[in-house]
Amino acid sequence: MKRLSLKNKNQPSIPEIRADIIAVDLDGVLAEYTEWKGPEFIGKSIPKMLERVKKWLKEDKEVVIFTARIGTKECVPYIEKWLEQNGIGGLRITNVKEREFIEFWDDRAIQIIPNTGERVDGKED
Ligand SMILES: [Mg+2]
Repeated sequence: MKRLSLKNKNQPSIPEIRADIIAVDLDGVLAEYTEWKGPEFIGKSIPKMLERVKKWLKEDKEVVIFTARIGTKECVPYIEKWLEQNGIGGLRITNVKEREFIEFWDDRAIQIIPNTGERVDGKED
């Protein structure tokens, strides 16, 4: 596990910053999703993805929930409850892309070969 530490003897209270974080979308990735039904409705968990996240956590990897839902503040308690009910409570929730993210798991992303503009899947637009 690579970690950056800002801790030194002059600033002992600065927390350790993780350098390798996996960002996971909620709707359509961790939870079944068809259409927006309101902040209180989050679909059933998707077992394969949920188990993958639990495995990462056992391996001491840091996982964050990366979801547009958090743009609506009233959504946060529902997301936290859903995570708790599915055995991954306490994960950080964000909608901000961070430099420390090494992977995005998302159902809408199109992966691009770095510095080329070319799609990894080889398809044309
Ligand atoms: Mg999604």
